[in-house]
Amino acid sequence: MDAVPTAIAEVLQRTIDTGGTLCVLTGAGMSAESGIPTFRGTHDSLWSRFDPMRLATADAWREDPALVWGWYRWRMQAVRDAQPHAGHRALAALARRVPLSLVTQNVDDLHERAGSIVDAHVHGGLFAMRCFACGHAHTALDDYMEGVQRVEPMRCTACGDRIRPGVVWFGEALPDDAWTSAVDAAERCTLMLVVGTSGLVYPAAGLPALARRKGATVVEINPEPTALSTEMDLVWLATAAQALPLLVG
Ligand SMILES: [Zn+2]
Repeated sequence: MDAVPTAIAEVLQRTIDTGGTLCVLTGAGMSAESGIPTFRGTHDSLWSRFDPMRLATADAWREDPALVWGWYRWRMQAVRDAQPHAGHRALAALARRVPLSLVTQNVDDLHERAGSIVDAHVHGGLFAMRCFACGHAHTALDDYMEGVQRVEPMRCTACGDRIRPGVVWFGEALPDDAWTSAVDAAERCTLMLVVGTSGLVYPAAGLPALARRKGATVVEINPEPTALSTEMDLVWLATAAQALPLLVG
């Protein structure tokens, strides 16, 4: 992996030369390269027997908030222990060359820590905590103790209910403002890069098709073909950390 495929280099250069705009959609593969466990796959002994589909719901929270918060505290710590990789840094650099909207399905803060402005966290953010009952925002994080499974959630200073993570749980709607920004970015861009996303989670997986209907060129960057590959104008089989730095040369 030492060069950008010619067709992709050309479409990026044309976008820059003609005053076009870029939209970058990132998914779990991007974070996995920083060592953050993907949502469904972890071999960590403490949590391996738990099904994320049964922890990441409002019902699970009502039933056993300390268990759900313990799981999220563990995930938050994994994010804090991870570092952005060369692909994250390359996107921050690319945004200095061409107008770029960054839309991510990831709930971590690695893009921000690499210097990017994220236009839309369509699945929310781990650290954008808020009260389960009244929605009051909360930023300070309690201490993490390794190996502890059940952690009583922090309490809301406004109403006393429990503080939940800022992620979108199964069965919940996407945040309105983030989704509106994502759709807007997809509709306006002239070039979309789809990076490290499996293309299985809707509605986010529908953004590349939307961009293409509106006339954008859509390029997938992923180490293996995905559910979206056949809808792409161009496919580059590479990881984010391999490919993105080459785009900024
Ligand atoms: Zn509250």
